[in-house]
Parts: sequence; structure tokens; C-alpha cells
Amino acid sequence: METTQVVIAGAGPTGLMLTAELRLAGIDVVLLDALPARSGESRAGGVHARTMELFDQRGLLDRMIERGRPIQAGHFAGIKLDCSDFPTRFPYTLAIVQAEIERELDAHAATLGVPVRWGSPVRGIRPDADGIEVQVGDSAGSRIRCEYLVGCDGGRSTVRKLAGISFDGTESTMQGMLADVELADPPAGPVFSVRRGPGDYSALNFQPGWYRLLVQRHDRVIDRAAEPTFEDFRESFREVAGTDFGMHSPRWVSQYGDAARQADRYRVGRVLLAGDAAHIHYPAGGQGLNTGVQDAVNLGWKLAAVVRGEAPALLLDTYESERHPVAARVLQNTRAQTALARPGAHSDALRETFTGLVEIDEVRQRLGLMITGLDIRYELAGDHPLIGRRVPDAELSTTRVHQLLVSGKPILLSLNGSEPPAIATGWTERLDCVAADAVTRQWTIPGAGDIRVPATVLIRPDGHVAWATDVQTDTGLEVALTTWLGPAAVPGPAELSAACRTSRG
Ligand SMILES: Cc1cc2nc3c(=O)[nH]c(=O)nc-3n(C[C@H](O)[C@H](O)[C@H](O)COP(=O)(O)OP(=O)(O)OC[C@H]3O[C@@H](n4cnc5c(N)ncnc54)[C@H](O)[C@@H]3O)c2cc1C
Repeated sequence: METTQVVIAGAGPTGLMLTAELRLAGIDVVLLDALPARSGESRAGGVHARTMELFDQRGLLDRMIERGRPIQAGHFAGIKLDCSDFPTRFPYTLAIVQAEIERELDAHAATLGVPVRWGSPVRGIRPDADGIEVQVGDSAGSRIRCEYLVGCDGGRSTVRKLAGISFDGTESTMQGMLADVELADPPAGPVFSVRRGPGDYSALNFQPGWYRLLVQRHDRVIDRAAEPTFEDFRESFREVAGTDFGMHSPRWVSQYGDAARQADRYRVGRVLLAGDAAHIHYPAGGQGLNTGVQDAVNLGWKLAAVVRGEAPALLLDTYESERHPVAARVLQNTRAQTALARPGAHSDALRETFTGLVEIDEVRQRLGLMITGLDIRYELAGDHPLIGRRVPDAELSTTRVHQLLVSGKPILLSLNGSEPPAIATGWTERLDCVAADAVTRQWTIPGAGDIRVPATVLIRPDGHVAWATDVQTDTGLEVALTTWLGPAAVPGPAELSAACRTSRG
């Protein structure tokens, strides 16, 4: 029987990103997908600032930017949210279809030695004390033995069902349909959305000559048993938009609803869930793919530390305690967006009120930082205002902070001449210790304002701050290192600065 350390079911954006994170940490991975091959369906239409930062931290963003188109604003139920003043290197939405993101991540996974195994559906699992046996395909198929199985297999996740994890929430109340088509009579702009009649319609010109058209109706409810045809789509689009833009040559037609459901647990023993397998919701605000990629980056380094035997399995519980509330918030805001998107005088009045509220800077910031994921703060121990937040991509004299994260290792960053605390010596094998000079005296943190540049900061591989201090001290550092990296390998103080990489100008 084939053996590996981790099996990932599902090669969507979540499974691909998790594969990359685990390989970066040296873990053996098998990546399975039920489909016979990549479908090329456009699906998601964009990524937000925090996800761009995560791709950038791993050196994956540049090619995506080449293939996408920056859009200065995000939106909440179609109400514009200007993000151009947000404190990030990427204060915009990158309009790029999911198929392009998957193409980049497919190529990346292949270079890391893990090409997707297509036509390989996970059908059964047999967990025991030391691992799991994964059944691939029918009884004549193969079996793989692994230490952990991660279900990244989408909203109808087989892994979730096999693990007995419930998926409660609210039913769909509407129907959305989308198609990738060519247009004989295209609209003027490359991307737009219009509210009309029983719903709304939108268009995204994602490749020369190709459009992703979308129509949403609140006078119908999705029927999952009936796959829509191109004619169904065209008729529905015409009814709402009053035109079909001469659509023809469909590459793909699909439908979705606004059901909002979340797995009650993200881990049962050696089985974990991530991405749509753990949470589904209305695609308003474009948050699904983003949340899945962020799940993967939160989980990857933790799972790697456990598989390597450095950290206890308990570390995996922080994946659920950190990521479950994030997705719960997404479900809540997408339900609110469905309510705002409904047709009729009551929703019109609500939208008008809301549009006025969004003009208040604080409201715009609150909503925009939530949709972009820039305000996510995990509840970690410690008083420093940076703890739990994502570290900003601040300029250092010879590099920038997010570039330090390209290795996927935690960083102990000592700034402006402060000494790295000697207590960290026991973790030098698992840690990048960097001494650098900050270019500015303050860092601007989304939702927290300007914060004095710390003396020393411990940054997790997902870019969140685990520990920070403004003075020369090691108070709390040992606990933070043990919590996130596992117990020290070599006890006792030594000259840590010798192991430190200097990045001073
Ligand atoms: C119209 C629309 C617009 C959207 N726009 C956006 C947007 O702008 N931004 C955004 O962030 N999100 C958006 N989304 C949501 C986004 O598409 C999903 O959240 C995203 O695809 C989730 O990625 P995933 O990898 O978790 O799951 P998926 O992409 O669903 O991938 C799951 C994979 O698992 C495979 N699989 C299934 N069963 C098995 C099995 N038993 N064994 C092995 N493999 C299996 C499937 O074949 C599939 O490849 C949109 C969705 C829709 C419908």
C-alpha cells in the first residue's frame, strides 16, 4: 500500500495552497481530485488584499497580478467600498478568475513535486490510532495510508460526511446562474453589475473575447437537482437585463444559491477540513476562495510541525479556534448582503440607508477591512497591540517584512539594534532569526491605527504576530515559542545573535 504523510482531497484553491504550504515545510503530500481534469471554469472573480499579501509572502503573486486587473474598490451587496487608502501594499481588489489562480497554483504544486492526481475521488476512510487508510475510487481502486487527511473537497465534501461532521446553517432563498460566453454585442465596460427587476446581472471580461456573465434572481430558489442549460441561462439573463448581449459559444454554465452552512468542527482526530468543505455561503463580496486560501495558510505550518513531531497535536486545535470565527463572520455578512440585494421597496429603502452610512469613513473602513480580511486578529495570549494581528509589510533598510516570510518559517525579527533574546536559542533550527533596521518609526495597522515599531517581534509563518515587545525583554517569549513551535530542541542560553541573519543597510 502506498504511504505518505498527508493526503489532501480536493485540488481547488484551498487544496493547492495547502499542498504548497506543506511542501514548503518538507512534508510528503498526495493531492487527489475527483475530476478527470481541470475544468477551466471561471468561477470566483477576484482576490482581496489579505489573500494577495499571503500569495506575495510566498512569491506567488507577481504572475497573478500580470493575469488580473486591479479594481480600486470592493463592495458590500454591490454598494461600493473604496479601499484605496487601506494600509496595505495592495489597496484594491484583483479581478482574476479562479481558473487563472488554479493554473498558477497547479504549476507551483507540480514544481514542488506534487502534481494533482486527477480521477481520484476519496470514497472511504479507516482511521486508527496511528494514521488513516484512505480509499481512492471504488473497491477496485487504490488505498493510501497517511498520518493526516485534509478534506478540501468543496461544499459537498465527502471527507466531511465520512468524518461525521455536521454542516448546519440556512437554506438557499434565491438562484444565481453564471456562464462563460462570447458576446456578439458586448457592453462598454470590462466589469459591471446592475440591479434590475427581480434581481441583478453582472459581467466580467476575463479574457480577450470572453465574458463571465452572471444573473441573480430572488423570485426563484435554486433547484440543485436540475442543472441549468445555456438556454435556461440566456432566458433568465434576458428577463432581468432586457438584453443578452448576443451571447453565444458557452464554455460553462452553472448555478449557485445563498445557503450558508458551516462545519461544527474543523478536526476530528486525524481528519481536518478547510475551504468550502468547512463553510459555504453566498458568493457576495467574493470571500469564499479568499477564506479557503487563508484557512490553508493558517493550517499548513501547524500541521507540518505536528507531522514532523515538533509540536503536539493540540496545536491543530488552534486552527479551528482561529479560523471557525472568521468563516462564521463571513457567513453572517453574506446573509446581510443577501437581505440588501433583494428587490422591492423595503430592500431599496434599506440599501439607500446603508449607502448613506457607508459614506461615513468609520463604517466604510469597518466593512472594507472585514471584506478584505485585513482586520483579522486571532485571540492570542499577550498584551502588545500587534499580537494576533497580521504583521504589516513594512519597509526595512534592505528588504520588507513580508519578503522575510518566503521560506515559510517563523521569524524572530529584532529591529533597530535590539538584541534577539537568548531564550530563543533552543528554537534556532525551526526559526529564522533576523536583525534589521526599520525605515519608519511607526507601523500603520488596519483597525488599530499607528503603532510604534516594536523592538522584537515573533512572526508566525502565516504572517500573524505571536509575540512582540517594545523594550529589551524576553518575558512571554518562551511560552509563545513553545506554543507555536513546540518545546525547545536545545535547552539553555547561548549566543543567539551569532545565528541571526542581519538585514541592515
Ligand atoms: C459565481 C461565483 C462567484 C464567486 N466569486 C468569488 C470571488 O470573487 N472571490 C472568492 O473568494 N470566492 C468566490 N467564489 C467562491 C469560490 O469559488 C469558492 O469558495 C472556492 O472555489 C472554494 O475553493 P475550495 O478549494 O475550498 O473548493 P473547490 O473549489 O470547490 O474545490 C474542491 C475540489 O474538490 C474536488 N472533490 C470533490 N469531491 C472530492 C472527493 N471525494 N475526492 C477528491 N476530490 C474531490 C472537486 O473536484 C474540486 O476540484 C465564487 C463562487 C461562485 C459560485
